[in-house]
Amino acid sequence: VTTTQCPGVPLAGSAPPLLTRAALDRAARLRADAAGQDRLWADPRARVLRVDAGTALGSGDPWALAYADPEAFSADPALRYFLGLDGDGVPYFAVDGPFSPAAGQSALALRRIGPSLPALEVGLFVHAVALGAWHGRHRFCPSCGEPTVPEAGGHSRACGSCGLKQFPRLDPAVIMLVTDDEDRALLGHNTAWPAGRFSTLAGFVEVGESAEQAVVREVAEEVGLEIDRVEYEGSQPWPFPSSLMLAYRAHASDPRLRVDHDELTAARWFTRPGLLDAIGRGDVLLPSSVSIARWQVERWYGGPLPTEQDW
Ligand SMILES: [Zn+2]
Repeated sequence: VTTTQCPGVPLAGSAPPLLTRAALDRAARLRADAAGQDRLWADPRARVLRVDAGTALGSGDPWALAYADPEAFSADPALRYFLGLDGDGVPYFAVDGPFSPAAGQSALALRRIGPSLPALEVGLFVHAVALGAWHGRHRFCPSCGEPTVPEAGGHSRACGSCGLKQFPRLDPAVIMLVTDDEDRALLGHNTAWPAGRFSTLAGFVEVGESAEQAVVREVAEEVGLEIDRVEYEGSQPWPFPSSLMLAYRAHASDPRLRVDHDELTAARWFTRPGLLDAIGRGDVLLPSSVSIARWQVERWYGGPLPTEQDW
């Protein structure tokens, strides 16, 4: 259990959600130039992050990502993804596929170690995992069914038959911390979660709907509240496999709940001291620090809250 601050103390500044940190120039202007991509790959300073199903090679204490030397293996140009340049102009690539950790290395999961990595590394890791997940699921053209090939440094795919271009897919999801007139926070327990886990409400944005409309609809569906105010808080990539989490603070004047028991087994209003007490008693387990939900709850609370094991 980590330290807590007094309820109501504002978080210093507005630190971003932990997977939203990044420190790389994505250099999209360099993606389309195939010869230029070859030159960047051949740069003796170039670094390659190998990823496989949400993991990357790493080592050390504290953990750090382990980069491969492009010369160490021959990646088909179509299978290497250009991630960008760091402040010194060092090119970074990702290669997606099975790997074998060398002595002293481990396969590190983004969900577990992402929060503790420096900004440059977490930005690379999220970008590489998201691209890997997308390529793996878009090998065939959705229009004509023929194979597609990567292009633009791995940031698009084109159909070899009809020419249709596809770009990395994102599924926008809204996640909302609902408050009432007493500034209590509403947290729900999803039927799929371990006992005691409480988090903010969330759902996917539907076609033909704005993100704000999705907030109002999801809250009405899940807990029967009428939302009268919606404010954007921030966003975080969630590449498991392709979500973009859009965080909102929403307000309901009438706090009477009608919980939809298909999705939630419970929903409760918490005051700040009440939440801290519930955590202390073990009645409530908050989501992991990697989630934007945790970031939202701590923004509302005004500081860090006690942390248990990851989930
Ligand atoms: Zn096609």
